[in-house]
Amino acid sequence: MMADNLFLKIINKTIPAKIAYEDDLCLAFHDINPQAPTHVLIIPKKVIRTHDELTAEDQSLLGHLHLVAIKLAKELGVASGYRLVINCREQAGQTVPHLHLHLLGGRDMTWPPG
Ligand code: AMP
Repeated sequence: MMADNLFLKIINKTIPAKIAYEDDLCLAFHDINPQAPTHVLIIPKKVIRTHDELTAEDQSLLGHLHLVAIKLAKELGVASGYRLVINCREQAGQTVPHLHLHLLGGRDMTWPPG
């Protein structure tokens, strides 16, 4: 079972996070259990539980999340190579029911992912 939407608590600042970027549409914060030297989560403020809940109305929001990822990759010094991951649903490893882009960098990556 996926846990409660604790990312809403991070958006509402009722639980702390190390915030890397924030604007009206999204929030980015460092993952509490980093899988790479740089591991940031970029989330929309709008509640979208899974990637496949996205609709045409969210197209520009999703594009915005990607542009924020590029900006953060540059700011955090991983622009020479980074990986973006979205886990959709539990079988793919999603544990928090709020859409999030993982931005991973700072080490060599392998393929295929686990
Ligand atoms: P996923 O498994 O794709 O749903 O990713 C959820 C991510 O959220 C994992 O990488 C967790 O380490 C991370 N995470 C869980 N709780 C927190 C928290 N309180 N602050 C920051 N990251 C968290």
